[in-house]
Amino acid sequence: MATIRARREPPPFRPATVVDVIRRGDRLVRLTLAGPALADLDPGLPAASVRLLVPDPSERGGTDPVALPTWNGNEFLRSDGSRPPIRTLTPLRHAVSDRLDVEVVLHGDGPLAGWVAGDPLGDPTAISGTGRGYTIDPDAPAFVLAGDESAVPAISVLLAALADEVPATPVHVIIEAAEPAAEVDLPAHPTATVTWRGRAEAARPGDELHRAIAELDLATGTRVWAAGEAAGVHRIRQHLFDERGLPRPHAVVRGYWKVGRGGDDDEG
Ligand SMILES: Cc1cc2nc3c(=O)[nH]c(=O)nc-3n(C[C@H](O)[C@H](O)[C@H](O)COP(=O)(O)OP(=O)(O)OC[C@H]3O[C@@H](n4cnc5c(N)ncnc54)[C@H](O)[C@@H]3O)c2cc1C
Repeated sequence: MATIRARREPPPFRPATVVDVIRRGDRLVRLTLAGPALADLDPGLPAASVRLLVPDPSERGGTDPVALPTWNGNEFLRSDGSRPPIRTLTPLRHAVSDRLDVEVVLHGDGPLAGWVAGDPLGDPTAISGTGRGYTIDPDAPAFVLAGDESAVPAISVLLAALADEVPATPVHVIIEAAEPAAEVDLPAHPTATVTWRGRAEAARPGDELHRAIAELDLATGTRVWAAGEAAGVHRIRQHLFDERGLPRPHAVVRGYWKVGRGGDDDEG
């Protein structure tokens, strides 16, 4: 008989409401979420994660909170047994304690991108978190932060944390964007070099990022943080570890989404 292994239960969902929507760029939207249940939610280390519950169309526009899904030992389910759309995002600290910002890429179809593109102001939602983030090594000689548009919020938090904690350490930021209009402002950093690379129409997601990383001259001990499409970052992982021989602890490479597959599969 097959054994069903119970997964570790994620933190419960906390209800929240979208109280502000800011267009950060043509393809990136910032949502401010608010609610008393968010007051003690710790955004965690830089580039941590939260799960966001995308409201059902029937729940949008009303004043009632969303129906919170419950954990069945393996996944979150609605009371009728269906799987709600839950997506992973990067928490961004907000100046007000019961608020949290998240930024969403308008990449096209998908429950999350579709909801955010369709004016989510005032809608109820819920957040579960926080998942693991990145520990900055203050002795590292240099950092590389690389990612596609889905990693821009995480790269922003990492860049701000590096400016705060190790401002004299060089940082190279590389971002692969599906189109030039995707470019957005990033936090100031005294020594960072920021390069936006456009993705050629026929190219696979991550190929441009891979090429840009391969062109870099990495000083011994450089720490690399990279995130983006799963297959693309897998090729980057192989390049760093197998071709360049980077020590495993010196690079964190995470799949943030997968071509052709919707889902809430946060690895964090
Ligand atoms: C730890 C972590 C942190 C993340 N942080 C952020 C964040 O801060 N902001 C953010 O926008 N995303 C972030 N992501 C990625 C986000 O969870 C996925 O992009 C998610 O799949 C989007 O959900 P959706 O409902 O819009 O599309 P889905 O229903 O999941 O997917 C529908 C289709 O769209 C494609 N697709 C999904 N995402 C993208 C994309 N970014 N670009 C192009 N095509 C895509 C899929 O391959 C699929 O074919 C993060 C992921 C992880 C694991």
